Amino acid sequence: MKRHKNARMGSRKKVHAFVRVKPTDEFAHEMIKYGDDNKSIDIHLKKDTRRGVVNNQQTDWSFKLDGVLHDASQDLVYETVAKDVVAQALDGYNGTIMCYGQTGAGKTYTMTGATENYKHRGILPRALQQVFRMIEERPTHAITVRVSYLEIYNENLFDLLSTLPYVGPSVTPMTVVENPQGVFIKGLSVHLTSQEEDAFSLLFEGETNRIIASHTMNKNSSRSHCIFTIYMEAHSRTLSDEKYITSKINLVDLAGSERLGKSGSEGRVLKEATYINKSLSFLEQAIIALGDQKRDHIPFRQCKLTHALKDSLGGNCNMVLVTNIYGEAAQLEETLSSLRFASRMKLVTTEPAINEKYDAERMVKNLEKELTLLKQELAIHDSLTNRTFVTYDPMDEIQIAEINSQVRRYLDGTLDEIDIINLRQIQEVFNQFRVVLSQQEREVESALRRKYTLIDKNDFAAISAVQKAGLVDVDGHLVGEPDGQSFGLGVAPFSTKPGKKSKSKKTLKDQLSTSARKEGAGSPLSGKDLDAASTSKTQLVPSSRDGDVKDVLSRDRETSSIEPLPLDSPKEESRPPRPSTPPPKPVAFEDFKNERGSEINRIFKENKSILNERRKRASETTQRINAIKQEIDVTKEALNFQKSLREKQGEYENKGMMIIDEEEFLLILKLKDLKKQYRSEYQELRDLRAEIQYCQRLVDQCRHRLLMEFDIWYNESFIIPEDMQVALKLGGSIRPGMVPVNRLVSLGEDDQDKFSQLQQMVLPEGPDSISFYNAKVKTEQKHNYLKTMMGLQQTQRK
Ligand code: ADP
Ligand code: MG
Repeated sequence: MKRHKNARMGSRKKVHAFVRVKPTDEFAHEMIKYGDDNKSIDIHLKKDTRRGVVNNQQTDWSFKLDGVLHDASQDLVYETVAKDVVAQALDGYNGTIMCYGQTGAGKTYTMTGATENYKHRGILPRALQQVFRMIEERPTHAITVRVSYLEIYNENLFDLLSTLPYVGPSVTPMTVVENPQGVFIKGLSVHLTSQEEDAFSLLFEGETNRIIASHTMNKNSSRSHCIFTIYMEAHSRTLSDEKYITSKINLVDLAGSERLGKSGSEGRVLKEATYINKSLSFLEQAIIALGDQKRDHIPFRQCKLTHALKDSLGGNCNMVLVTNIYGEAAQLEETLSSLRFASRMKLVTTEPAINEKYDAERMVKNLEKELTLLKQELAIHDSLTNRTFVTYDPMDEIQIAEINSQVRRYLDGTLDEIDIINLRQIQEVFNQFRVVLSQQEREVESALRRKYTLIDKNDFAAISAVQKAGLVDVDGHLVGEPDGQSFGLGVAPFSTKPGKKSKSKKTLKDQLSTSARKEGAGSPLSGKDLDAASTSKTQLVPSSRDGDVKDVLSRDRETSSIEPLPLDSPKEESRPPRPSTPPPKPVAFEDFKNERGSEINRIFKENKSILNERRKRASETTQRINAIKQEIDVTKEALNFQKSLREKQGEYENKGMMIIDEEEFLLILKLKDLKKQYRSEYQELRDLRAEIQYCQRLVDQCRHRLLMEFDIWYNESFIIPEDMQVALKLGGSIRPGMVPVNRLVSLGEDDQDKFSQLQQMVLPEGPDSISFYNAKVKTEQKHNYLKTMMGLQQTQRK
């Protein structure tokens, strides 16, 4: 393919218009003059004074064209008009060559030529010749040639190459059809011609058909349009090129352009007359529209001619017009209108472009080829990296089953890892994960269904039905089905057991406040009392949330024992077993802190850390204060020294003002500043102390709560006999005891507390204040504890 032709693609191009003058002995030399460049033609009309034609009537016209062919041989005409168009068609550009002119001016002669004389053959046979000659010159391409020959007469389409004997219009009338690829004539036979000879014989057959038809159908052949089309398709012979090009050349022999009203109406000379052939006026309209850059709609569909030529007029075609004229004075009028048509055609611009298409089949073949190549490449790569076992083909069932089993083994832990082999295998591993997962889901569900009747939780009707039937309790638990929590009741380690029975903080508080109220605020029991008087939480406040069977049972029992039972009432068999010897309190306390007391322990710790932070800040502030104090002392001493020095040296006075030197002055300033600092630091320390006091109170409260609840828990879990618990219940005679204040203070005093006490020693008040402070703290702790209890009592009463 000649690439340089591509440069023309997309650039606009004018239609080439030529004039061919029919040889005559009566050439009107005074009226028709050619320019020196042989591209313009001037028409001069002598004023016809006899008929009194108006004076200002135009008598001179000048037409600028692409060439005037006067006495030109068929050979020269072809060279000038058609050769380039045909050559470019083989490169993928569509071409249209059209002959226009009045009947007898030489259109058919130009287009087809004298069929009986080889020398006088026209554009058509020459074009076919050139096409086949060029194909021979291009062994790199496989080019196919097809031809069709269409005649349009009175808006009817005739196939001049119909394989049937030409008897008239075919049974199914042909139609002009448009599709994205362009315009084509449905029903028109298109003939593959593998050589020049075939093409010629088809052409002659068509010409013969044309002549026969003009007689048998009484057609005026001058009124028909004939379109001979050469279709070409060029595929590169190298397989890698999946692109191919298509093109067509339309060779159009138009009907006579002569107009009505010319003959016998001399008075209407020079007036535009109507075409005898209507479709030519539509062609002219289309040409005018195509020549107008502002027009975007071109009326192609007004007649069969323009419709059939839609993609061959303007557009992406190389277009050439040959206007055939007489050179005789008698025909000047028609000559003038033919030249006008030619100059209008010259305004039309086209945008020739290659018709490139993709060969899908070839594309697939190329891709397959590339795939094979890449596979080979991979194989080489794999053998270099010792991965020769890897294949890249789609997996078969056996391989997929193997991956499935790998995934299963991986999931149950018998396989540590799944080796990565290639992308396909990774994808399959994930796929099998999904398969196994959904399989397991189904298995679990069906196992559940085998064992249980599953009811949709949102299906209230079904739920109430089973509730009525007594199958489930109010919480939706199946009656008789132990749940996880109560299942191991008897065997659970003692440290975890009580916590599980009651996780609710509210119930703890309730119990605490109840006890406090009943007990009264001022009479805490001793440690021993506490041990003896503790109560079982499990029995007192049954958990309504854990609606398992055993709870339901114990709840029932309790409901029936709201009234005090005789103390000796035997209850042993319903008690959960517990260790025969209670665990040491410190050990149990650790357990308690992690379980039932975890929340209060957390708050306790939090408050303590806040307290410690404040203490730390207080200590820092104290240190700063001490430092300032020291500096104040030093400055004071220095000032005193300065003063004594001044007194010794004698004082200066200026207008009643004491004069002091700079050093002394600066010391005074410094002292003032230090005093200011001291004051502000001391203020901060005071604030911090207040905060510390507040925090201390909170910490003490928490500690107390923690210890108290621990004791209750310890007693009810390990100490109090069954029968005693009854008496401890609401309305019972004995209330759970309180931890004595002295124990409270001594217990839980950890290293941090001791450290903070050490901190107090550096307070500016001096060592004397420590005992005072400690005493105060203890009093306050006691006071706070009582206050807390009172507060709790009050909230309980509300
Ligand atoms: P059209 O097709 O325009 O009606 P034709 O091509 O049939 O006209 O020409 C009419 C006659 O004039 C034919 O006999 C043709 O051979 C002859 N003729 C036309 N042009 C030439 C020419 N350039 N040289 C010789 N003969 C011509
Ligand atoms: Mg003709």
